[in-house]
Amino acid sequence: MISGPPAAGKGTQCERIVEKFGLIHISAGDLLRAEVEAGTAAGKLAAEYMNKGQLVPNKVVVDMVKHRLAQPDVQDQGWLLDGYPRSADQAAAILEEGIHPDVFFLIQVPDEDLIERVVGRRMDPETGQIYHLTFKPPPKDTLKRLIQRSDDTEEKAKARLEVHAGNVASVLDYYQDVLVEIDGSQDIGAVGSAIEDVLDTFQESSSLDEFQRQAEASSA
Ligand code: AMP
Repeated sequence: MISGPPAAGKGTQCERIVEKFGLIHISAGDLLRAEVEAGTAAGKLAAEYMNKGQLVPNKVVVDMVKHRLAQPDVQDQGWLLDGYPRSADQAAAILEEGIHPDVFFLIQVPDEDLIERVVGRRMDPETGQIYHLTFKPPPKDTLKRLIQRSDDTEEKAKARLEVHAGNVASVLDYYQDVLVEIDGSQDIGAVGSAIEDVLDTFQESSSLDEFQRQAEASSA
């Protein structure tokens, strides 16, 4: 799982993790934006909250995420859950299904940096790439088609920051055993290396465990 305030760099880091570790990226925000785009009843309700920077009600979010987690590709390849859970109730809902992460990354960035990151963020609708006008400049030939998320204004970002700050502690209560805090104010590469080091170590130790299990099973 990966968590952090808005524009902490979760999306960018998720791309790197997916590329290196082959997990399926499940972003609650992306799932909700797809519902909004498709004009479904859930999407219409979600849009009212997203436009104010507030959390979408659990009756929309929880089943949507549970449903995605149950799909065969996720079961085969493993998952990287981004932007969920965002409240204690959401954490409890997946724990009931026996879902607990191997690692919970919390990316920390000072509030003042986050607002600057949010307002400069742009997306290329053709490739899905996320850029920042200053920190990760887009190629010049894409500039005209770039779009800004409707909740990436200063006012809405402040509301989203408050929601995050109000909920994060209750979510962390569920994941103290696997919590890894990452300094997200470093550059993208350094944040990525910090995350990859943890996942590499985890992967090595779980394959060692698996090796030992198999060795024990064959000698029994
Ligand atoms: P994100 O793309 O993660 O920044 O999420 C964008 C917006 O989607 C948030 O500000 C919320 O309005 C909504 N959202 C995303 N994830 C959740 C969630 N787990 N629970 C409720 N609302 C969510």
